[in-house]
Amino acid sequence: MGNVIIIGNGPAGISAALYTTRGGFDTTIIGKDKGALVKAAEIENYYGFEMPVSGQQLLDTGIAQAKRLGAHIINDEVVSISYSDKLEIITKSSTYKADCVIIATGTSRHLPPIKGLKEYEGAGVSYCAVCDAFFYKGKDVTVLGEGEYALHEAMELLPTSQSVTLLTNGKEPTADFPDSIIVIKDKIEAFKGDGALSEVLFKNGNSLKTAGVFIAVGIAGSTALAKKIGADINNNKIVVDENMQTTIPGLFAAGDCTGGLLQISKAVYEGAKAGTEVIKYLRKAAEN
Ligand SMILES: Cc1cc2nc3c(=O)[nH]c(=O)nc-3n(C[C@H](O)[C@H](O)[C@H](O)COP(=O)(O)OP(=O)(O)OC[C@H]3O[C@@H](n4cnc5c(N)ncnc54)[C@H](O)[C@@H]3O)c2cc1C
Repeated sequence: MGNVIIIGNGPAGISAALYTTRGGFDTTIIGKDKGALVKAAEIENYYGFEMPVSGQQLLDTGIAQAKRLGAHIINDEVVSISYSDKLEIITKSSTYKADCVIIATGTSRHLPPIKGLKEYEGAGVSYCAVCDAFFYKGKDVTVLGEGEYALHEAMELLPTSQSVTLLTNGKEPTADFPDSIIVIKDKIEAFKGDGALSEVLFKNGNSLKTAGVFIAVGIAGSTALAKKIGADINNNKIVVDENMQTTIPGLFAAGDCTGGLLQISKAVYEGAKAGTEVIKYLRKAAEN
């Protein structure tokens, strides 16, 4: 029959699961924490509630509903998506295979305001180790981040680079980094270079030569995940067609991560649309 993995347990992901489970497809939702919705203390513009409802309440009810319909809910952090014989979802602790994947991870996190970060994008600043490690073969590279996502990117770079340095930008590392990865915790002032990035300047006056910096702050955002598998991004949002299909076959996206109106009703609609389109996609694949 085929299986579906939904990344993100917010309204878009849960809404998609209501359709794919009821359509008879094995559905797994992988979510890291509770996303944007729990930050909303009182919601009074969502259909069906006479009195304001809290984001937490909406979320808990949605998750219970998806579970009742048979969705498997896994609490984990997705760090990458790739493709072998099927779509492959790599989390902090495991690897999952799926016939269809729906990205519903909300809006991307804000990047740290470091001078030169935007300027050197594509000229030394990368968001995808698996895509760009090749260009830095034998060179000294850095990873900006502190958690599991940064660890994943660093481990991806380690076999091909001369050296990998983790830049935590003032934070304490939250993952278990091996000794082969150098850790610098100093706050960063700027990225510098002549046309392409070549140096990191720290606020304490120190500097570090580097051929490239891979951005992996916090957890992997929607666009970072989409980029890893080559899906198109526009203006920091995942590009989808009217069926919520990305530019990669079998990969769909829904909710805040596709841009437009950042509201629950739109996330729920797009989740429903993605869910129904995944059902059509998998049924068609089973016929061939
Ligand atoms: C303070 C605040 C108030 C708001 N008030 C309203 C309101 O009154 N009305 C309204 O309609 N909307 C409101 N919104 C907007 C609404 O919350 C969002 O539009 C909606 O939650 C988007 O749903 P989503 O499923 O796309 O993303 P989210 O709700 O953000 O869910 C995304 C999920 O993906 C998970 N995730 C992300 N990355 C990963 C990863 N790498 N691995 C695993 N899981 C991951 C997150 O943990 C999260 O659970 C408000 C938002 C905020 C912040």
